[in-house]
Amino acid sequence: MIEAYSLFSGSSGNGTLVRSGGTSILIDAGRSRRAVGCALSAVGQCAADLAGVFITHEHTDHIGALDQLCKHEGVPVHASCGTADALLHHDFVRGNLVRHPVIYTETVGALTVTAFPLPHDSACHVGYIVRDGEGDAICIATDMGHICEALLTGLTGCRGALIEANHDIAMLRCGPYPAYLKARILSPVGHLSNEDCARVAAHAESVGVKFLALGHLSEENNTPKLARDTVSAALGGSDTVLTVCDRCAPTRIM
Ligand SMILES: [Zn+2]
Ligand SMILES: [Zn+2]
Repeated sequence: MIEAYSLFSGSSGNGTLVRSGGTSILIDAGRSRRAVGCALSAVGQCAADLAGVFITHEHTDHIGALDQLCKHEGVPVHASCGTADALLHHDFVRGNLVRHPVIYTETVGALTVTAFPLPHDSACHVGYIVRDGEGDAICIATDMGHICEALLTGLTGCRGALIEANHDIAMLRCGPYPAYLKARILSPVGHLSNEDCARVAAHAESVGVKFLALGHLSEENNTPKLARDTVSAALGGSDTVLTVCDRCAPTRIM
């Protein structure tokens, strides 16, 4: 059975640990190597025992610790082609890089990881579905400007999901961000609002997802309560467990 933790989640850094059957992988490695190491040890995981790091895209909040993690732990880094190309200038990542097509499936130990494309303003952004040998699965999907079919399809068969609830649209519109940044976030390749996340959540619930974690919340344009209330209102009162990922500390997803 899969055990998954968000290590931290938001524009200051993202990382998710997934483990099952003695295999542990990381999806993204934002923040610093020290922050990743502290979060991993808080959930009983040694960085040296990671079987791989799967990168969603090259934005800093997803790769901040990657170079140092490669330098000190020599962990393999898996990425879709465009993202892999964007990582080539990181000296210590280069030698550990496993370059994949945009859509790919890779098995490391007891875990099988499948990438699917997500709409975001990076070279080649993907979400991941991680499955173990018993058929248990989790979907991890953040940084997307709109809801796409690949995500909705991918949720079927997952017991858990980490989905982006980046901003409340009204807070973002009235908030302190400059106009260009508001436009970027609201664009079809920006970030997912609470309202759109609620639509994804309702679909996830309908296809049997039992553990739903909300992540990548904006510090300025959202609150954990607003994200939770908006998504919770869209759920049909089933036994789906709703969690909001902490920005800086580990949160158990499933
Ligand atoms: Zn991004
Ligand atoms: Zn991000």
